[in-house]
Amino acid sequence: MSNVIQLLPDHVANQIAAGEVVQRPASVIKELLENSIDAKASRIQVIIKDAGKTLIQVIDDGMGMSLTDARMSFERHATSKIKIADDLFSLKTKGFRGEALASIAAIAHVELKTRTGDDEVGTCLKVEGSEVVSQDACVTPKGTCLSVKNLFYNIPARRNFLKSDNVETRHIIDEFQRVALAHPDISFSLTHNGNELFQLPLANFRQRITNILGGKTNEKLVPVEEDTEIVKISGFVGKPEFAKKSRGEQFFFVNNRFIKSPYLNHAVVASFEGLLKDKSYPSYFLYLEVDPKSIDINIHPTKTEIKFDDEHALYAILKSSIKHSLGQFNVAPILDFERDSELDTPYDYKDKEADVPQVEVDRNFNPFQSENNYKAQFGGANTYRKEKPAEWESLYSGMQAETDEQVDLKQIEFESEEVTGNLFGAKEEQSEKSTFQVQKKYIVSTLKSGILVIDQHRAHTRVLYEELLKNITVSSAVSQQLLFPLRLQFNHQEVEMLREIKESLEQTGFIFSEIKKDEVEITGIPTLISESEVEILLEQLLADFEKDVPNNGFSQTDLLAKSLANSMAVRSGTLLNSAEQQHIVNRLFACKEPALSPFNKTVFTTLSVDELDKKFA
Ligand code: ADP
Ligand code: MG
Repeated sequence: MSNVIQLLPDHVANQIAAGEVVQRPASVIKELLENSIDAKASRIQVIIKDAGKTLIQVIDDGMGMSLTDARMSFERHATSKIKIADDLFSLKTKGFRGEALASIAAIAHVELKTRTGDDEVGTCLKVEGSEVVSQDACVTPKGTCLSVKNLFYNIPARRNFLKSDNVETRHIIDEFQRVALAHPDISFSLTHNGNELFQLPLANFRQRITNILGGKTNEKLVPVEEDTEIVKISGFVGKPEFAKKSRGEQFFFVNNRFIKSPYLNHAVVASFEGLLKDKSYPSYFLYLEVDPKSIDINIHPTKTEIKFDDEHALYAILKSSIKHSLGQFNVAPILDFERDSELDTPYDYKDKEADVPQVEVDRNFNPFQSENNYKAQFGGANTYRKEKPAEWESLYSGMQAETDEQVDLKQIEFESEEVTGNLFGAKEEQSEKSTFQVQKKYIVSTLKSGILVIDQHRAHTRVLYEELLKNITVSSAVSQQLLFPLRLQFNHQEVEMLREIKESLEQTGFIFSEIKKDEVEITGIPTLISESEVEILLEQLLADFEKDVPNNGFSQTDLLAKSLANSMAVRSGTLLNSAEQQHIVNRLFACKEPALSPFNKTVFTTLSVDELDKKFA
């Protein structure tokens, strides 16, 4: 057999490399920003058109390149940053692989204008698909201006794979923010289709974070400082009460490079232990400085994952210094070594009013004392529970009372009356319509042929989902006007997302009177929700959107309806009176698809008389 192996031509090799380095316009922005920073720029402008699909331009005032360097910079493995393999272990620069420009030039139309401080004229170089098409002397300010046009023009499959402009812009903003957060000593701007999205002046870390995430962020930050032999930590964590429903505001920077590290993230979350509400994520902006020798950045082409020599020590130092900060700034209870933390009220319960024991609790506890007497005597609090929260919980799990005691009490009486009625055989109670609740989770109803058990949360989600979809697509819902407008703070990115879905939200009954850069004002809300729920509902919605970014109008509406329905539906653990139970059942069976929740989960199940008979056989 003849020989078949040959070397790949350069432009093919470059295209292959580009597949790793350049996934989307945001990757180009990241590489170009890093080059400008390595060139010691003090001001960097980013200009994009059509989410970077038509144009990405990065202009810096850095050291620029000589004519020869300009030509060389597009060669693969051409870099000014390392010379020998040992340099890899003492990196002070962002780039070092010498691949970015070669890769980008293989899959786009690139124009480079650059001039060093020593030269009087600059160089203008055009490269298209790895081919140099022109090289001229030109007049240009000191520094470098790199324009990338028609990304993926020669790889239609990659171009078609790109998401909607909104989604790609969000990725760009993500990358831009990461770089800008790591370098407050450089001023940055970002302009999209002529609109200035960010204008960030020179600042310190705190100011930079606030400039990026919005005015009120400043008040939420708790400083973290620690200096040890292994690592120097500085930065901020967000106060626990401002923890987010999504991971949007979590940033680690190692030697000024944004990195992802699930392991270190775990250390941060662990230091917040007991301070966070369920399913919320703490914000953090942590800058770690370590000896470049002690890390390996070269394990991932986009350089966002790195390997630390001494991960365990880092974990421990990080955790304890954040704990210390939270304690010092009075966010956490002051450290007290005498105290047994087992006896602390968990944070989740701290601000809740103590639950009134259910009727069952009372019966067992003291059969001769009436409910109201008990309450008067103990003021609604249950001393037994305070001492042993865990056991109390497990005894009555699935029966946690809602916060409003009064309502609960009434309902307890009502429920027990009904139970008595049923037990002693009042015939009319047995009519087909009667329903009751099991474990505050299931609604049980009788059918001619057996019994029907309905998951209350899923059923209600289905009902609300269909209703919301109808409102959004066909007719708009009524809204309740708020007496005082509600002002809610969000970060820039969240506000951008809200803008995108504003129209659909308005169809459900929201009225937005003003949307600013980091604040929205709401004057009307859907009739189905209360004012106090609005913030949490919108936060959840934005978190859902961030996780699962829809790329067309239909799936956007669907996701919106799903998320709102899920947040608005009654939870399991909520006591429902029989009118409410029947309301849910009736509306469920008026739905188009009652058997499945919008998340494709079973809504109800039936048990036939035959099956019951078998059990008694
Ligand atoms: P790397 O950054 O890994 O060295 P790149 O392909 O990104 O590889 O860049 C190649 C070289 O081009 C860099 O090493 C640098 O010398 C030069 N270069 C790229 N961008 C700039 C810039 N904005 N200003 C000055 N020099 C630059
Ligand atoms: Mg580079």
